[in-house]
Amino acid sequence: MIDSAKFTMIDEDFTCLVCGREVSKLGYTARDHCPYCLHSIHVDINPGDRLCDCHGILKPIGIEKSRKDTYKIVFECDKCKMIKKNITAVDDDFDKILEIMSNPINYWAGLTFFLYIEKRSIFW
Ligand SMILES: [Zn+2]
Ligand SMILES: [Zn+2]
Repeated sequence: MIDSAKFTMIDEDFTCLVCGREVSKLGYTARDHCPYCLHSIHVDINPGDRLCDCHGILKPIGIEKSRKDTYKIVFECDKCKMIKKNITAVDDDFDKILEIMSNPINYWAGLTFFLYIEKRSIFW
């Protein structure tokens, strides 16, 4: 269902800048975060467009359950502090996901994050 010009998905191999591992193409959609350490880089304005020049590191701060039994990783950019969300990929490290979920700091961050989102949503 990718029919909008906003969704020019770029699926490509890359080396993770955070953990240094080689990450191969995902195949079914754009790879938007590292499956090993779950970090991402702030490069998109709209998903997959690579038009953002911030290039800060997106740190996974929480996991959010979304519809249809999918999960979203909640990221905070260490440079501009923007909150981003990406759907988990099939080969994401599940132990890492559980680790983020069970971290009480992330739990509280998740709660304040919703208030934060409300304020910032007009800028997305
Ligand atoms: Zn990584
Ligand atoms: Zn940023």
